[in-house]
Order: sequence, then C-alpha cells, then structure tokens
Amino acid sequence: MCSIIGYIGSDKAAPVIVQGLKRMEYRGYDSVGVATFSDDQILIKKGIGKVDQVNSTSKLDTLSGSIGIGHTRWATHGRVTSANAHPHPSTSSKIAIVHNGIIDNFAELKMDLQKKGFIFKSETDSEVIANLLQYEFDKTKDIKKSMLQTVAQLIGDYAFVAVFNDGMLAAARFHEPLIVGIGNEGYFVSSDVLGFVEHTDQVIYPDNREFVIINTHGIQMFDFDGNPVKHQITKISKEFADSYKGEYAHYTIKEISEQPRTILKAGHNTKIELDLISDLIKQTKNLYITGSGTSYNAALVAKYIFSKYAKLKIEPLIASEVPYTSNFFDNQSMLIALSQSGESADVLEAVKIA
Ligand code: GLU
Repeated sequence: MCSIIGYIGSDKAAPVIVQGLKRMEYRGYDSVGVATFSDDQILIKKGIGKVDQVNSTSKLDTLSGSIGIGHTRWATHGRVTSANAHPHPSTSSKIAIVHNGIIDNFAELKMDLQKKGFIFKSETDSEVIANLLQYEFDKTKDIKKSMLQTVAQLIGDYAFVAVFNDGMLAAARFHEPLIVGIGNEGYFVSSDVLGFVEHTDQVIYPDNREFVIINTHGIQMFDFDGNPVKHQITKISKEFADSYKGEYAHYTIKEISEQPRTILKAGHNTKIELDLISDLIKQTKNLYITGSGTSYNAALVAKYIFSKYAKLKIEPLIASEVPYTSNFFDNQSMLIALSQSGESADVLEAVKIA
C-alpha cells in the first residue's frame, strides 16, 4: 500500500506534496518521489528510503512550480531502486504519473508500446500508464479522451495521478482510494485525507471507475464511460485532523491507546450492533478470522481470546491463503476480516470470496 498525491494551486507544490507524503507515512513504503511542472517542463526527483532521508539528500521540496505529484512506493513489480521509484515520466517526458496498485496486463501493453517506439526506463508495471497516456494524448490532444482511452486498456487495480506539461492534473480511480480536496489556495488529490487535511476540510470522494481533470480554474469529473459526474462536497470531520500522531511516539501506540474509545465510536448505536454481531457469532458453526501481516498476528491473538472468554473455536487464516482454503466455507460459516487500513488487497479478496 502506497500513497499518491497531487496538488495544483497558488502555493509552491513540492513542499505541500512532501508534507502530505509525510502525513501518510503510516501506510508503509520503500521509496519516494516528487514531480512538478515548471517552465514548460516536468522535473522529477526520487530515491529509496524514508521521506525525510530522501528529502535531505535529494531536496525533493526544492523543485519549482505550483503543480505537482508525489508518491511513496510499496514495490510490487520491479526491485526497490531509484529507477523504479515513482513518478515515472513518459518517453517524451511530457507526462509523468504516480500509481498505486497493480496493472495486471502491463506486459502486453508494454510490448505493444515498445513496438510503437516508446522507451521504458523502469521495471515497474506503472510506467505503461505514462506511455499509454502519452500515446493517446499525442493522437487526440485531449486530456479527457486520452484518460478514457487509457483506462479502457488498463486491467488491474489502480489509482493514479498524471501531470501533463500543459499544467493540468488528471487522476483516475479503480478499486484503489482517491480523494479530492478543495482548498482556498488550490486543489488536491490524494490516497487519504491526511495528505491535505491541514489545507482544507472540503472534500469530494470520487466513486470507483471515475476520473478527475484539474487545472487552476477548477475540476471536472467523469465516469469511465465519459459521462460527467457531480458529487457533493463533504466537510471532513475533525477526527481526521486529530489523526496526527500528536504526543505519541508512533501511530501504532496511538491506535492502541485509543481503542477503547474507537470501538465505542464505531457505529451509530454500537451497543446494539455489537450485540447483533455477537448473536451472529454464537449462531455460527464454523468461525474463521483472517488478516494479513500484523492483522494476521491479531487474528492469532483472537483465537485465544475467543477460546478463553467466549469458549468458541475460531480458526485464523492468512488472507492470501483464503483463495486456496475457502472450499470449506459454507452457509454455516463466518469469516471475520481484520484490516488496519481497510485497504489490504488480500483481506478484501478474502471477503469477496467469503
Ligand atoms: N505496482 C507499482 C510498483 O511496483 C506501484 C506499487 C505501489 O502501489 O506502491 O511500482
């Protein structure tokens, strides 16, 4: 899970982006990068390591320009190298992209684009987005059309932001998070409201299969069929602004100390909801609990808690193994899914299967 962010406005983009990436560090990553549009060209700086480390050696936040994109990468395709870190420029460097997710058909697309003369500089799946957009944009000279043509060819899960060298941003979302922020001094797109929460509390949540085109004057949103879409602007609650780690040494310890409050705040009428869930659990014959990484460790702890307090047997499953073990799920089974982010792909897949 990585973070993407884009900014277009009257402030200098790079410091806004670097700060936003730092706010989203809890999401985990191995490398970081920023691209800005300045003086008719796209400038890119990136490297391996934490935001602060890379920023102190490469001075990400000194890039000029008031339009930009940024990324923290969690490598899925290609090694953890500077070349594989995002942003990725298109062959002509007229477009650069940051991508969260996986492009399943990148190999076919890459081969096809290479035949058309596009040159690839990374081992990532993501770079095809930059070159595909460039190919479509060169044909149509139209950002909306090139976005539509691009998303029509991508297979996989993604949220991406592209900066075009005419000073526009475009971002699309398909099964990965993307949030638009509307501030007084500019527009934001980000994986998480934390990316821009200190600049604005006005947000739009694009639906799946939607994209947004942003310039300094405003935003336009469309679905993947090209129809314009309108969304309410939502005011985000103060809790988001509170989600900085504050006086806590790190986010994990903050979350642990907040658990008693968080659980009670989870539903409109949490007591009734908890009773309903416990009734369901009591009626279920086969109980399973799944997680991935740390949440799987939590599932292992749950096994002892269920046994000790509820006298129930619950079987922990590693989320990525659920596709191979789900044949014993039946209508007497329940799967409890744990996820810290709510976005862990393996856990979401396990829920879909169940
Ligand atoms: N699949 C892309 C890569 O390996 C993006 C990974 C991510 O979501 O950070 O570069």
